[in-house]
Amino acid sequence: MIINEIFYSLQGEGFLAGVPSVFVRLAGCPLRCKWCDTKYAWAEEAGRDYSIDEIIKTIQQWPCKFIVITGGEPMINSDLPKLAKKLKALDKHITIETAGIAYIPDLACDLMSISPKLSNSTPDDPKLAAIHKNARLDLAVLRELIDNYKYQLKFVVDSQNDLSEIHQTIKEIGNVVPNRVMLMPQAATREKFLAKSPMVAEMCKQGGFAFSQRLQVLLWNNQRGT
Ligand code: SF4
Repeated sequence: MIINEIFYSLQGEGFLAGVPSVFVRLAGCPLRCKWCDTKYAWAEEAGRDYSIDEIIKTIQQWPCKFIVITGGEPMINSDLPKLAKKLKALDKHITIETAGIAYIPDLACDLMSISPKLSNSTPDDPKLAAIHKNARLDLAVLRELIDNYKYQLKFVVDSQNDLSEIHQTIKEIGNVVPNRVMLMPQAATREKFLAKSPMVAEMCKQGGFAFSQRLQVLLWNNQRGT
């Protein structure tokens, strides 16, 4: 598998924010979101080839039960089921961070952390915008994911105007348990995160959603490897 990076940190986002976790970042994502904070992992070859055993050996240098498989977009990687199975055999807790654009059945996964992309993530380049538009929201895939895995739905919020699109997306997916939905500010720096947080907190109160931290931004200002 082409692995972009493996590091030990705290889970920064979602219901497990603050939990010490090892991150395994797989290479490759077709979406090219405008504000993506891991552009360095977009290309399928953005990393180095690891065997599954090598990944496990690297992970095991840290005494940590929680593993976050992220990207890029890990759900498009055909070797993901093998890696997840091996981690589960070691009794690890597995979170998969995904944009919800691909479905894999019967994955060993304790938390499917789904971040459906809103129109605020559309790239400026018209060619990339067209690819992004066709791929960013697949309602059938999102339904399969929430029906078959324990999940959280994290929406990245840029402005107040996003609230109606969030409500509409949840309605279109259907069957979403409201207390599994979280909103988090779109912010690549600590300063922007703090500036946007009060607005997002009010939106959470209006919509009955949870506020998601971004500890990697708050604590380390989004440095790579955090
Ligand atoms: S889906 Fe995630 S990894 Fe892919 S471009 Fe968008 S923000 Fe970046």
